[in-house]
Amino acid sequence: MNSSHVDVAIVGGGISGAALLYLLSRYTDLGRVALLEKYPAIGEVNTHGRNNSQTLHCGDIETNYTLEKAVQVKKTAQMLVRYAQAQENRDQLLFRYPKMVLGVGERECAELRERFDTFSPHFPAMRLMESKDIAAVEPALTEGREEAIVALGSQDEISTANFSALAKSFVEQAQAGGGERVDLRLNTQLKSIEAEGEGYRLTTNQGEITARFVVVSAGGHSLLYAQRMGYGRQFSCLPIAGSFYYTPQVLNGKVYTVQNPLLPFAAIHGDPDILEAGKTRFGPTALVLPLLERHKLSSFPEYLQVLRPDMQVAKVMFDLFKQKAIRNYMMKNTLFEIPVVRRRLFLKDAQKIVPNLRLEDLSFAGGIGGIRPVLIDKENRKLHLGEARIAPGNGLIFNMTPSPGATSCLGNAENDLRLIVEHLHCRFDEAALQTELHGE
Ligand SMILES: Cc1cc2nc3c(=O)[nH]c(=O)nc-3n(C[C@H](O)[C@H](O)[C@H](O)COP(=O)(O)OP(=O)(O)OC[C@H]3O[C@@H](n4cnc5c(N)ncnc54)[C@H](O)[C@@H]3O)c2cc1C
Repeated sequence: MNSSHVDVAIVGGGISGAALLYLLSRYTDLGRVALLEKYPAIGEVNTHGRNNSQTLHCGDIETNYTLEKAVQVKKTAQMLVRYAQAQENRDQLLFRYPKMVLGVGERECAELRERFDTFSPHFPAMRLMESKDIAAVEPALTEGREEAIVALGSQDEISTANFSALAKSFVEQAQAGGGERVDLRLNTQLKSIEAEGEGYRLTTNQGEITARFVVVSAGGHSLLYAQRMGYGRQFSCLPIAGSFYYTPQVLNGKVYTVQNPLLPFAAIHGDPDILEAGKTRFGPTALVLPLLERHKLSSFPEYLQVLRPDMQVAKVMFDLFKQKAIRNYMMKNTLFEIPVVRRRLFLKDAQKIVPNLRLEDLSFAGGIGGIRPVLIDKENRKLHLGEARIAPGNGLIFNMTPSPGATSCLGNAENDLRLIVEHLHCRFDEAALQTELHGE
């Protein structure tokens, strides 16, 4: 059993924690930074390519993003691109595939034409694609199709990421540049955090660590640790699991669909799978699952602790489920998990992308797909979609990062770094970060 002191302890070796480790080791003069990960390897949970859609979100094909959100996500995606391009193994980190969002029927086509006018000034590579342009890139989208279609897309942009490889790369680069200052602790599970003096004492299965600052980037578990310390009690959690279906390769790149404005969760898409050559992956579905970690039944009691059911949670749930569109959508997504019926039901949704897809082409991707920890904001009685940070200003940060958290990892880590620098008064090489990651 070890006992040791560090300046910053980061809990969670997914891409969020790994990105922060890299930034602190490269751009600050902090003496010692520890990264604690409960599993034997980095990036094994939501960050792993089998559990997410592997999309480097840039905002151009995601119709659930406003222009403001799209521009912000694109900026953080570019940080990741600048980082990856400076690495020797860049070809294993980011990938170029054609990408598009497909509009089907008059209403969606009109929406995409309008969106093109607003978005294209911010996305110079974006093209408005008519049916014949679509057929030239993705023939399967037009074969057997009767409805009108239009798409917005680009053909030679970086659209895909191996987020787990990126997380491992952050840790390797932090260790290479930071030497002894970087303290990587795998197989180390946080049990509790207690205030002690001007810092904190972390109890783990491998002994105790004291730290001047603690950042918890442990997926849905971040909220659990925050609440155990008395923070974030205005939040509850609605874990949304995403499952996928495989087909033989029917697409050449990423094909997103237009968001239904009545639904809070992103519409399904078809993607190449960088971990499964020769296959196309459709999804993710959106299933409410009472777990903080997918495929880990032991996280059920922990979920009950963060659920903290009360009248406000009941009201948010009631408001959500009283809408017919959402009720039907939730029901359908539950059926997407039930053997026998699920393939037939999912086929209809997938045929919106590839009309000629057949039932025998489709197989449920068992064991694939993670969980997006969506917060329920009890005070404002609504869902808090997207990333959330609880930072009480006393040397603690708790990060919850559903999609596009992997794409935004360096942007989120930069925000954490600024709070750490302010609190610990350490040196920060802002100019180097601006040059290397923002290209300024
Ligand atoms: C279905 C699906 C599709 C998605 N698609 C995309 C996409 O295409 N593009 C995109 O940008 N984002 C996508 N996301 C979101 C993305 O996967 C997450 O935002 C990102 O992986 C979050 O990284 P993280 O490091 O915060 O969390 P995680 O990757 O979940 O890492 C948390 C880590 O904390 C560790 N941990 C937990 N508890 C403890 C403890 N007590 N002690 C020590 N360690 C602990 C875990 O083992 C884990 O390694 C998707 C998510 C889902 C579920």
